[in-house]
Amino acid sequence: MRVITNPRQADHAPTVEVDGGEVIPAYEVPLRYAAIRTALATAGGFTFEEPPATTEPPLTAVHQADYVAYLQQASAEAGGAGNGPMPHRWPSVFPFGPHPRALGPRALRGRFCYDTYTPILPGTYSAAFAGATAASYAAHLLACSQERNVYVLTRPPGHHAEADRCGGYCYFNNAAVAAAILARFGPVAILDVDVHHGNGTQHIFYEQPNVLTVSIHGDPRGLYPFFSGYADETGTGRGLGTNLNLPLPLGSGVPEYRDALAQALVAIERFRPEFFIVALGTDAHESDPIGGMHLPTTYFREMGANLRHLQRPTLIVQEGGYNLEVVGPCVVEFLRGIEG
Ligand SMILES: [Zn+2]
Repeated sequence: MRVITNPRQADHAPTVEVDGGEVIPAYEVPLRYAAIRTALATAGGFTFEEPPATTEPPLTAVHQADYVAYLQQASAEAGGAGNGPMPHRWPSVFPFGPHPRALGPRALRGRFCYDTYTPILPGTYSAAFAGATAASYAAHLLACSQERNVYVLTRPPGHHAEADRCGGYCYFNNAAVAAAILARFGPVAILDVDVHHGNGTQHIFYEQPNVLTVSIHGDPRGLYPFFSGYADETGTGRGLGTNLNLPLPLGSGVPEYRDALAQALVAIERFRPEFFIVALGTDAHESDPIGGMHLPTTYFREMGANLRHLQRPTLIVQEGGYNLEVVGPCVVEFLRGIEG
């Protein structure tokens, strides 16, 4: 299988994050990428390639132009003189009131970011941009009918990134960027199996009838991102009926995932997509430090095998997975399963 890599991922290397007011070691780190790449290389059967420099990700097809410009400018400013070797920029205040105004730099931090897990560092923009570039190149490969399956190995992840805000370790929504390209050629279905709800992807396509978004995740009453991911969120306007959330109780294992995946497949087959995108998080693994689910490594192969039966050109893009020992083997198992 062809693996499209992000050659700039290590530019974004946070050392800490803020959880409930407590400063803790960052979970979303470059070692995740290295762990996956090593596991794929050891397993064999995967070829790695960087996206061509000429690839232009259609960022403003899914993100607001002022957000894209802010991320670029804030990254550059974080790298300015006198800021220390690796400054992290977080918001402390978020928009409130009926007509919030964001005119200064401290207000803009809260305007364009919705949590304290997602700092902006000097290399954030270049790493996120290169990830979106990799996803775009993979989408073009599928659209040109060159491949049946392509895997995008990247970080930071993307599925929590909203049209106008970063959050949940995510800056640009790689799956949405790929979907925006593929939707020019036909209907697209996105299945998000990361343990956290893919809020950004849901909201970006919430009114669009030609992109089906399906997410299997931990019940947001107990798990990030808390404010969305409920079963009654089904799309709006022309997109009504094109969003399906399958929240599962924390502590769910293989039986619950089998049932949810079967429901997801029914909805996807009914939608008759031309292209299929998997937002592949492995943080539902039983040993993930922030997931809370009970999936064994072997189940990821079964999941991939079940999705193979859709028989659609498929783009798999890396999202979460934070146990450095198991994220690589889980990705290998999933890709083996989907390749058959
Ligand atoms: Zn996740």
